[in-house]
Amino acid sequence: MPFKVLITDLGFEPDIEQEILGDDVEISSETVEGQHAPDSTYNAADALMCYHTLEFTPEIIRKLTSCKIISRVGVGYDNICLQAAADMGILVCNVPDYGTNEVADHAIGLMLALCRGIPQINEATRGGDYDFAAFGKLPRLWGRKFAVVGLGRIGTAAALRAKPFGLDVCFYDPYLPDGVDKALGITRYTDLYEMVAAADIISIHTPLTAETRNLVNAEFVATMKDDAYLINTARGPIVDVDAVGDALKAGRFGGVGIDVWPTEPPQDEALMTAWRAREPWTDRLLVTAHAAFFSGAGIREIREKATIEVKRVLNDEPPRNCVNVDLLTHARIGDEMLAMVKRLKQGPPPG
Ligand code: NAD
Repeated sequence: MPFKVLITDLGFEPDIEQEILGDDVEISSETVEGQHAPDSTYNAADALMCYHTLEFTPEIIRKLTSCKIISRVGVGYDNICLQAAADMGILVCNVPDYGTNEVADHAIGLMLALCRGIPQINEATRGGDYDFAAFGKLPRLWGRKFAVVGLGRIGTAAALRAKPFGLDVCFYDPYLPDGVDKALGITRYTDLYEMVAAADIISIHTPLTAETRNLVNAEFVATMKDDAYLINTARGPIVDVDAVGDALKAGRFGGVGIDVWPTEPPQDEALMTAWRAREPWTDRLLVTAHAAFFSGAGIREIREKATIEVKRVLNDEPPRNCVNVDLLTHARIGDEMLAMVKRLKQGPPPG
């Protein structure tokens, strides 16, 4: 019997997936966008690949009676009940790194656009002006302090990109071991607010957690230099956009670049409403539409990597990015394989 892989919500031909899995694997991808598959399709699937639009509640997950792996074609897995999957012995895996380069490029792109006044001078020139100072005085980047909050994959990539601009790069990330600063040649702060007060440009790269929700609040904003720049390409709820809007309205900030909003698409946030109405005080705000990750190569990469994770499991090899490993007490891939997945997660044994 060939393995059956169900792809929900794909919306296009599973050509990349079929090429990787081979012709002896049967792919079912006929589900309509936004709708769950029939029970019999869920029952029969040996593996499931899913995007972000469908909720995988315990009730749906209990229909996956043969499934060994749910491979999330993307990074966030908040639409999948990890505990319910673990209770069924199903591994949940994701693709954590497909957009690392793009998001770091985007953060630097927002910074450069704001610091060089590119969108504003472009608009003024299109309107008939020909004035290099159409956006007022611009800062010199060389020597300014570029502060990364959250030095993970994307934060590190942003830090490395900032260095050749002559920026004085620093970071705050309490969860990293000592020595990262030395390895990268950047400065570590152990006190977030000390860094915030000293920074000229702050780029947010933490995950959204209970600790980072509203991390950039009124107090954070008040601690920033009056002419500092703030860039958020991480997750919307990390930044209190009302506090940012109040500061912009009060004439503070050199500029603000926002790719992600607390609710997406943004609804009636005052800052978004004012920006869309082109209120003059919002001219230092640059907005993109959760676009930081996006590139053709990145989309291909998530599809490939999510499929390779499925292939590993179907071939009795451990997957690389299991996100519910701590919750699994048994697994349909077998005890030996589960032990290997847990060992990979724990890292190397002590010497
Ligand atoms: P990562 O897990 O590799 O790195 C996150 C880092 O943040 C870790 O080093 C962690 O120690 C640190 N951290 C956690 N809590 C912290 C805290 N309270 N203070 C300081 N540091 C803290 O994550 P990543 O892949 O680099 O992703 C970073 C962010 O980018 C995430 O929020 C992710 O969702 C987001 N993202 C956005 C897009 C987009 O299109 N805009 C695309 C992909 C990822």
